[in-house]
Amino acid sequence: MSDAITSVFVAALLAAWAVRAWLTRRQMRHVAAHRGAVPAPFAGSVPLQAHQRAADYTLDKLRLASLSGAVSTAIVVGWTLLGGLDLMNATLRDALLPGWGAMGYQLALLAAFTLIGAVLELPFEAWATFRIEQRHGFNRMGWRLWLADLAKGAAVGTVIGLPLAALVLWLMAASGGLWWLWAWGAWVAFNLLLLVIYPTLIAPWFNKFEPLADEALRERVQGLMQRCGFAAKGLFVMDGSRRSAHGNAYFTGLGAAKRVVFFDTLLQRLTPTEVEAVLAHELGHFKRRHVLQRMVAIFALSLGALALLGWLAAQPGFYTGLGVQPNLDAPNDALALLLFSLALPPLGFFLSPLLAQWSRKHEFEADAYACQMADGAALARALLKLHEDNASTLTPDPLYVRFHYSHPPASERLAALPAPA
Ligand SMILES: [Zn+2]
Repeated sequence: MSDAITSVFVAALLAAWAVRAWLTRRQMRHVAAHRGAVPAPFAGSVPLQAHQRAADYTLDKLRLASLSGAVSTAIVVGWTLLGGLDLMNATLRDALLPGWGAMGYQLALLAAFTLIGAVLELPFEAWATFRIEQRHGFNRMGWRLWLADLAKGAAVGTVIGLPLAALVLWLMAASGGLWWLWAWGAWVAFNLLLLVIYPTLIAPWFNKFEPLADEALRERVQGLMQRCGFAAKGLFVMDGSRRSAHGNAYFTGLGAAKRVVFFDTLLQRLTPTEVEAVLAHELGHFKRRHVLQRMVAIFALSLGALALLGWLAAQPGFYTGLGVQPNLDAPNDALALLLFSLALPPLGFFLSPLLAQWSRKHEFEADAYACQMADGAALARALLKLHEDNASTLTPDPLYVRFHYSHPPASERLAALPAPA
């Protein structure tokens, strides 16, 4: 059992890393090879300079992604087969178990693991923001705001994560062989709760939300929502420009507490007709039940994953196969959760083409809905502007798209819309 676990884990980890690295190389070559000329369908609408800026930005991001992919694979090996988690577990267990008890020691183990993982990721995040986003003119954050965000994120993570972890550990200890079913129920309830409290309690801590003041735009948006039979609790503008020049629009909340949020950067860039078309696309995701379907799929996948963990956690070979000696005099629940969180992503990676394909299908359906309810040509114009503003490449590698693109490439999306004249 132990050897079989090791073999499957190593094979999945190496395969996921190799496929990812190969796709990244393909994408880099493809983007670089097409840097010299704007592709034909965009020749009239996208200047060469914008096209090349997008290529350079994309290449910079891909270089960082390939480095961070290699480093995170090495970190997973370090935690597991090289004995990092085993060493940390033995140290914390011997130091804390007598005084803090089983729950205290396990929470400390989860917290220490999370903290170390976050610290190891920091250089990559800082590089992405202060080198790449900065160099291409997107970053609007200074170190002060970046550090404040980091501190707030850690505080939110602790306040929300620790009680959830304690609840799951308690369920694992107290509810017998079907603990994973209870843990799944807690996980679903937690996610629904988060949907309710995120827009009203958490997001305002990071950004300012003001009611949409533009009278004409508000009437236009409300008209659209009425046509679509959609009720929302409010229309808000968020100061996205504090952090980045990228623009966006989204919905948050659940049931009657739904709200529409526009980034200020989006409103500055698009005309009212274009904003309306973008919003119609977002409404399409609700009206075509994409949001609900995604949520159900995520809950179903997590039920499957937890059932698998329920079985694995009871096998000694699961621990030894991943480089950890299970505890003899303390619960192994926190260890099982950590090992699972390290071993699952390489396996899950091979689901990503399916999920991405599904998501791209939804994007086409939402675009079709927007064409019915608003001006399709305005949506096409908005997409072109957003592509240019976000410096998204117009010439992605088709295979890379299959694995990684949650949205169809611009050429395919625009081909399905009326001409952006
Ligand atoms: Zn969409």
